[in-house]
Amino acid sequence: MGQTLPTVVIVGAGFGGLRAARALRGVPAQIVLLDRNNYHLFQPLLYQVATAGLGPEEIAKPVRTILRGQRNFDFRLVEVTGTDLAARRLETSAGPITYDYLILAVGGETNYFGLESVARHGFGLKDIPEAIAIRNHVLTCFERAMLEPDAERRRALLTFVVVGGGPTGVEMAGALSELDRLVLVKDYPRLNIKDVRVLLLEATDRLLGTMPERLREAAAATLWRKHVEVRFGAAVEDYDGTRVRLKSGEVIPAHTVIWAAGAQASRLASHLGLPTGRQGRVAVEATLRIPGHPEAYLIGDAAYLEQDGAPLPMVAPVAIQMAETAAKNVRRAMRGEPPVLFRYRDQGTLATIGRNAAVAHVFGLNWTGFPAWVMWLSVHIIQLIGFRNKLFVLLNWAWDYFFYERAVRLISRE
Ligand SMILES: Cc1cc2nc3c(=O)[nH]c(=O)nc-3n(C[C@H](O)[C@H](O)[C@H](O)COP(=O)(O)OP(=O)(O)OC[C@H]3O[C@@H](n4cnc5c(N)ncnc54)[C@H](O)[C@@H]3O)c2cc1C
Repeated sequence: MGQTLPTVVIVGAGFGGLRAARALRGVPAQIVLLDRNNYHLFQPLLYQVATAGLGPEEIAKPVRTILRGQRNFDFRLVEVTGTDLAARRLETSAGPITYDYLILAVGGETNYFGLESVARHGFGLKDIPEAIAIRNHVLTCFERAMLEPDAERRRALLTFVVVGGGPTGVEMAGALSELDRLVLVKDYPRLNIKDVRVLLLEATDRLLGTMPERLREAAAATLWRKHVEVRFGAAVEDYDGTRVRLKSGEVIPAHTVIWAAGAQASRLASHLGLPTGRQGRVAVEATLRIPGHPEAYLIGDAAYLEQDGAPLPMVAPVAIQMAETAAKNVRRAMRGEPPVLFRYRDQGTLATIGRNAAVAHVFGLNWTGFPAWVMWLSVHIIQLIGFRNKLFVLLNWAWDYFFYERAVRLISRE
């Protein structure tokens, strides 16, 4: 009788989980990947779905398609609702699932910092439904503005507030302003473009906090040039769907607030029965094991690990590199070898600010303008999963670039 293979369960088919599944190709084990969605999502381009540049199928791909060549692989479309690490069992929407080894890569979610009114009336940007909701809403605001006789109410409909000056907020504000000023202006010739405002609100005194000062200043200057009103020291206190109130007392009439001001670990991380730290992330050992559970690993946005005295950021390269180490440690554990320690190699950061503009801090060098933008385009095309997606995104971008268009200007109803 053949020996039973151990089961490695991976939760989450994002950057970390998918890379872990690939890194375990050929291992004498059954790899079972669980996710509540049937696709892997390339989150860095979500803002382009939200601003009508790309369709969702161009930045996402079914997990089964990606991994169909991998023989020791299986996928389950389930929501994981709880964990019993002592019993090596997960509770899921389809009943319990047991494992010999576990890699949790459940990612993060939007952090509204307790601002319930913003969570209720504003938009987060974390998954496809949210990106499509933003696209529908922005386009609907333009349609409603066409029907609105009152000038003040019309201006509020055409005021778009993005909160948070990190890469997502900067990219979103830049793309939104270009959608309004380069594309929609052609569809709505009767609207006064002066009524259209995009504001980027940042609570601190800087954009792109982790980048060098020269790039931070270049980003702010480029946004202004692209008609984004960048406001520093602007902390949001409340939002009722039509008026944003800042801590300073200022009120900004706006029908749209897009919240890009914070991320926290996915809710499941708090169900592990372990202490959670900053942003709800769970501290892991340097081997990426969950303390007290040598067969269970936690990686990516949900994991908290410090390197050189600072927490590792919630970015895709950290999740990907952690996945490689966790998969290596699972292989080593199967062979009875001790685990290796994780060490993050920072390759740099990039953020684009619409056409021809980006900032990049790569290999210790600073890049701005067109060269940084070409670098940004190349990195994103290379990292997108699947030849079809790469091709269609490239075609879409080329079309939009030459014709000042955005392909997906549909208001879709669920
Ligand atoms: C809008 C946006 C833009 C970004 N831009 C960049 C960028 O330019 N560069 C960069 O490096 N990083 C960027 N990031 C961050 C980057 O996407 C994350 O750091 C990365 O996705 C983390 O990988 P992960 O594997 O930990 O989680 P994720 O990639 O988020 O994957 C988590 C997976 O777990 C699944 N899941 C979660 N909970 C459950 C559950 N209970 N049951 C079943 N499945 C579950 C989810 O469906 C998801 O598929 C961006 C993030 C966002 C939201």
